[in-house]
Amino acid sequence: MSKRAEHTPELHIIGGGMAGSEAAWQAVQMGVPVVIHEMRPQVETFAHKTGDLAEMVCSNSFRSDDDEQNAVGLLHWEMRAAGGLIMEMADAHSLPAGGALAVDRDAFSAGVTERLRAHPLVRVEEGEISTLPEDGHWIIATGPLTSEGLGQAIAAETGKDALAFFDAIAPIVYADSLDMDVIWAQSRYDKGETEEEQKAYLNCPMTKDQYEAFIDALLAADKTEFHEGETAGYFDGCLPIEVMAERGRETLRHGPMKPVGLTNAHKPDQKAYAVIQLRRDNALGTLYNIVGFQTKMKYGAQTEVFKTIPGMENARFARLGGIHRNTFLNSPTLLDNQMRLRSRPHLRFAGQITGVEGYVESAAMGLLAGRMAASEILGRELPAPPPETAMGALVNHITGGAEAKTFQPMNVNFGLFPPLDGVRGGRRGRKERYKGYTDRAKELWQGWLDNAKAGELTE
Ligand SMILES: Cc1cc2nc3c(=O)[nH]c(=O)nc-3n(C[C@H](O)[C@H](O)[C@H](O)COP(=O)(O)OP(=O)(O)OC[C@H]3O[C@@H](n4cnc5c(N)ncnc54)[C@H](O)[C@@H]3O)c2cc1C
Repeated sequence: MSKRAEHTPELHIIGGGMAGSEAAWQAVQMGVPVVIHEMRPQVETFAHKTGDLAEMVCSNSFRSDDDEQNAVGLLHWEMRAAGGLIMEMADAHSLPAGGALAVDRDAFSAGVTERLRAHPLVRVEEGEISTLPEDGHWIIATGPLTSEGLGQAIAAETGKDALAFFDAIAPIVYADSLDMDVIWAQSRYDKGETEEEQKAYLNCPMTKDQYEAFIDALLAADKTEFHEGETAGYFDGCLPIEVMAERGRETLRHGPMKPVGLTNAHKPDQKAYAVIQLRRDNALGTLYNIVGFQTKMKYGAQTEVFKTIPGMENARFARLGGIHRNTFLNSPTLLDNQMRLRSRPHLRFAGQITGVEGYVESAAMGLLAGRMAASEILGRELPAPPPETAMGALVNHITGGAEAKTFQPMNVNFGLFPPLDGVRGGRRGRKERYKGYTDRAKELWQGWLDNAKAGELTE
């Protein structure tokens, strides 16, 4: 260990998964010593199978690697530009998969583990941490399957309503893919003080025949089974729509699809038999979620069924619905833009527990938290990256851009990016628009990295 590192306070990271491993790597690159506290193999989860760091618990895909037309591909690009270990190992152990980045999972996590364990500034301590540390510098990156003891300790600090133990995700669509000649904006009974509030929801009307066909499609759709050990006593609070349909053909019409308090602005004299409502999902107004439509239908079935909804025939989905065991914070209310817990700023959070979703997004939030924590330890300021970058768009969403009341985990997608001036909207302009987003992001990300480097060199 160098003389300087000997006198630098340690950064402690709880959880050596996707986020914790990347956070550790970034911090040691900046000369900050790290202790990774990992409970496996002593304490297991229902999904992990090994004691390795950065284990991929399910699919072996990092999704699209297209950094010009795809937001997750752009995130790959940004992480590579930042010297990310997760991307380096994914590239080193990639498998042929068309435009996607698939990896040999065992070689990948063995590679991450070896690289971190061999680093002179890294120490791995095995064992569960089940209380919140009182002082020091900490990153909590314990993921969707955070151990019960630590989950309770976090809930005691944040309030139990601000920590979820499962997600119940309704699909999210891009606003510009909705047919506003069919859909109209209105809150039930025109509730609200301002016009904006009175028009807060978008409404898709259904006739009786359309409703009956929709129920048939829900009942027939392919569904995902729960993993063993995954179910909890949460079902009644947020039943999947297909389970509601199984309970009775009219159940949805008396629940999330009730047609009351609404008048079709396009056809005021036609009373809808059922109505599907969409609610704004981000401050930019580019994303809408389908209210009450959490579902365990398989992804293919979801797109097929939801595109039968009037006005949604050409809908593009920023994310599809799901229900999973998933521990995550209500980050918009709890975290500052440095990913610190407002009530205890010596604790940072990273990874899926912050309300992002997926291997890549979790590793990305680890990258950022690692750099931010190390900078703080070294007495430097590291501003959050610009919201026009994939990394900045994600962190901006979870720490403030998202609607806190309905906050659910999010994948990276272009709906999180501030719109571009002067490019065509809609399906036709998509290619040009996406290229515009990724070009803008790359330039700004490189600038952010260069500024961070310049900060290091001027000391
Ligand atoms: C069943 C399941 C399937 C999934 N499938 C996919 C998929 O196919 N594709 C995808 O992109 N994402 C998938 N995900 C999401 C995936 O878990 C995340 O994308 C990613 O692994 C999250 O990274 P993370 O670092 O936040 O958490 P993890 O990678 O889970 O890492 C958290 C680490 O913290 C450790 N830990 C937990 N509590 C403690 C404690 N108290 N003390 C010490 N250590 C602790 C755990 O052992 C683990 O190693 C899935 C999740 C689940 C639960």
